[in-house]
Amino acid sequence: MSKICVIGGGGYVGLTTGACFADLGNEVVCVDIDEAKVAGLKRGKLPIYEPGLQEMVERNIKVERLTFTTSYKDGLRGAEFAFIAVDTPSGSEGEADLKYMRMAAEMIAANMTNSLIIVNKSTVPIGTGDWVAEIVEGHLPAGLEFTVVSNPEFLREGSAINDFLHPDRIVLGSTNRRAGEKVAQLYLSLRAPIIVTDLRTAEMIKYASNAYLANRISFVNEIASICEQLGADIKEVAIGMGYDKRIGHSYLDAGVGWGGSCFPKDVKALAHMAAIHGCHPQLLRAVIEINRDQRRRVVQALRDILGTLHGKTVGVLGLAFKPNTDDMREAPAVEIIHLLQNEGASVKTFDPVAMERAKEIMPEVTYCEDAYEAAEGSDALVVVTDWNEFKHLDMARLKASMAEPVLIDGRNIYEPTKMQELGFVYRGIGRGYEKAEPYLPAEILAAGESIELEEAADDIS
Ligand code: NAD
Repeated sequence: MSKICVIGGGGYVGLTTGACFADLGNEVVCVDIDEAKVAGLKRGKLPIYEPGLQEMVERNIKVERLTFTTSYKDGLRGAEFAFIAVDTPSGSEGEADLKYMRMAAEMIAANMTNSLIIVNKSTVPIGTGDWVAEIVEGHLPAGLEFTVVSNPEFLREGSAINDFLHPDRIVLGSTNRRAGEKVAQLYLSLRAPIIVTDLRTAEMIKYASNAYLANRISFVNEIASICEQLGADIKEVAIGMGYDKRIGHSYLDAGVGWGGSCFPKDVKALAHMAAIHGCHPQLLRAVIEINRDQRRRVVQALRDILGTLHGKTVGVLGLAFKPNTDDMREAPAVEIIHLLQNEGASVKTFDPVAMERAKEIMPEVTYCEDAYEAAEGSDALVVVTDWNEFKHLDMARLKASMAEPVLIDGRNIYEPTKMQELGFVYRGIGRGYEKAEPYLPAEILAAGESIELEEAADDIS
């Protein structure tokens, strides 16, 4: 078992990393500069919502494998590894702002009292590992050694623990074989493929992966716009595409677009990196532009149906950038709500967990007890986050309480024909078609020779 210090240990990645490594039997100290977060964590109060994390943190605090501090000195004492998981937000030009990384590197060097393997989990521009090494070198006490290893994180908020403990792969960037092997040992029990490469390549794997996933969503959103005009259904198009093994089903959901703390900043940072090094990242720019349009399309659809938004009340279902998280960073709901308010609409909203965070950035919104209250008296309802509980609402009850039965399904969670039958003026994303009744006989389906798309949709989701 190893002694591990996690810098930025109060954040989504740092806390998940700390808790999971502790749960795997290591002794973990999470260091964070945010005193309020650390004070709360010491009492077992988590600063974020992440399914399963509360229980895991409590369990490991109890057996004293997981502790929290604001002191680098205490966190690094006797540690063999220092994982860096600080935030790397967007700067004004779209570049990754590395001020927290710099601070972390300087503080590690100033406070380390034994040799250390510094493992970077934050998403950082290519070359940052070398830059961190230079900073540490410049501040290092005499007689101590260190190595920097890149170990980008791929977990998703909402399923962070599962993603950490069951990763598709672990990427380790280091040319120092001994250090790489030691970090690999920490992950051995997870039985995941380990990709060993150099620092810069590891850093690029992370950016390229996120940019590719964002690209898939923007691609399917562009196809959705074409579907809408030409009378096809993007949901079934995506399912039909996904059965191709070269394509696969994931990240092909049309909707109001991607958001969150990673895709927006990482695609921008990669495009910025490319541009300042003389490349012409036209695909990345289009990926960003298409995503921006998705939010505007929702407001345009409302304008088309209601004539004007001035004086209207719009209910917004869902605020977090995706289900099972309270993260509001770059959430599509924020831009959609601002666009609506700019046109004179007032907004009522409900989200199962993100309302506290949302209130800090959007005080001019009416926060409701549940989806029904958000719908009551509204001239339109917009689904922005596909929380499971929104899929099982009593839609007839919802409609009966609305001033106008306008439903914009920004995540395609409802069946268009069913909503129309209920009397909604329904708009999904890319669902411009007349739906045919399923007609294949059961024996053909059972023989696996053909697939009814509606059933396939249930299997996949
Ligand atoms: P976060 O904002 O939730 O957490 C960062 C934490 O670091 C905060 O608690 C902050 O107080 C702390 N911090 C900042 N500077 C510090 C310093 N010098 N010393 C100690 N603590 C410091 O951020 P996050 O979402 O966990 O992301 C962290 C990194 O991981 C980013 O680079 C991000 O791109 C990457 N990442 C995030 C996710 C995700 O889903 N959130 C997934 C994969 C990778």
